[in-house]
Amino acid sequence: MGIIAKPDLDTSWKDLSNCLGVDPDLFFPERGASTREAKEVCRGCEVRVDCLEYALQNGEKFGIWGGMSERERRRIRRQRALDRQTAARAAEAG
Ligand code: SF4
Repeated sequence: MGIIAKPDLDTSWKDLSNCLGVDPDLFFPERGASTREAKEVCRGCEVRVDCLEYALQNGEKFGIWGGMSERERRRIRRQRALDRQTAARAAEAG
């Protein structure tokens, strides 16, 4: 994963990751290449949620994190932004 953390983000979960010792290139496939193998490693990873949340909060734009591709993470970020807007509008409306 090549983690370079922002100081306020917890990365202690990485010690329990399924990908320890796995070739990092697997998680950063060339554009258009299969992500299946990386996702298989992630599937049984007990810190998958922490890894995904880290990537979302850290704005990781490349690679497979928490079993999700860049495109899949973008979708989650977009949905969360929409949810925040909706909640803000609801709060304003009282
Ligand atoms: S979810 Fe995948 S990339 Fe994240 S720590 Fe686990 S095995 Fe590694």
